[in-house]
Amino acid sequence: MIVLSDRDLRSLLSMTDAIEIVEKAMIAVSAGAANLPLRSVVDVGEPNRMGVMPGAFMPGNGLVEACFGVKLVSLFPGNPDAGYSSHQGAIVLFEPEHGSAIAMMNAGLLTAIRTAAASAVATRALARPDCGTLALVGAGEQAEHHLEAMLCVRPSIREVRVAGRRREKAEAFASHAAARRPSLAISVFDDVRSAVEGADLVCTVTSSAEPILMGEWVAPGAHLNVVGASIPSKREIDEEMVARSRLYVDYRPSTFAQAGEVIRAIESGRIGPEHVRAEIGEVLSGKAEGRETAGEITLYRSLGVAAQDLACATHCVHEARARGVGVEASLD
Ligand code: NDP
Repeated sequence: MIVLSDRDLRSLLSMTDAIEIVEKAMIAVSAGAANLPLRSVVDVGEPNRMGVMPGAFMPGNGLVEACFGVKLVSLFPGNPDAGYSSHQGAIVLFEPEHGSAIAMMNAGLLTAIRTAAASAVATRALARPDCGTLALVGAGEQAEHHLEAMLCVRPSIREVRVAGRRREKAEAFASHAAARRPSLAISVFDDVRSAVEGADLVCTVTSSAEPILMGEWVAPGAHLNVVGASIPSKREIDEEMVARSRLYVDYRPSTFAQAGEVIRAIESGRIGPEHVRAEIGEVLSGKAEGRETAGEITLYRSLGVAAQDLACATHCVHEARARGVGVEASLD
């Protein structure tokens, strides 16, 4: 098998490539080409968790290369303060002919890139074309990759607003981003409300367990990518925000089982299950409508699916073999 490190992956998976790869993967998911059991979440000592994400692109699906595999990823929310990524782990990729494990690679960076790429795919499909103002709620690893991803699909963005929990962390994020992108006006906001009011694009990328964004704050015509809450007990947005929006998801089975905002809004009677308009793959393949008017709020609820990891991992293995990157190891 080939073993790929974080450093290898930095040279193998660009954001622009990841966006195209994830778009194809999501079309395949919604066409039924993937087998995606629900993610298992293991409590490894509060507040830390391990996620186990298996999946397969089935042989002969006609849309994407068949493969199967599993991502094993730990989520340690306190890690960034100690200089580590909050997501650590490995992806093991198998080939479908003999069932051999052909690759193992670092899961942290690949997760960050594929998640931002998925938001970019949804933004390209659902957001107004003329977005000028982006609000990032959260200032961690996902925020960094989301900024890059949003600029890829909406180069019209000129203003970036950042609202985190601790001002000094948001300021450090903003000054780093401003140094790399001097043409953008990047500013830090003390509260989420002022950051999102009037914004065309909003990405919530926090580790908050309780809603930090209320529906009444968001302007008509905005597009939201709601990314941060990955277990049913966590929510980043309130029920009003869910109810006010035209709602799209990555994968219905995991949404109804694990997306806290959607589950709570259904349980409280604010919405019915039909409020989920479509999976993003259905919009991308033309089977479902996306945005219909400039004034409606579109919302993409991202939970993340193993199909995104498998598709990006497959690309990285091809690139690594072509360029001689990585280390060959034998399990025989
Ligand atoms: P980081 O720990 O790097 O960043 C989290 C950010 O959230 C920090 O800026 C933190 O602020 C901020 N934050 C936490 N609580 C609040 C709050 N109450 N109000 C405002 N900001 C808050 O994590 P990542 O960027 O790696 O991941 C962010 C989230 O995305 C995680 O919950 C993760 O599980 C989820 N995720 C989702 C994926 C998907 O596919 N949908 C995939 C991968 C991750 P401060 O800096 O002050 O601590």
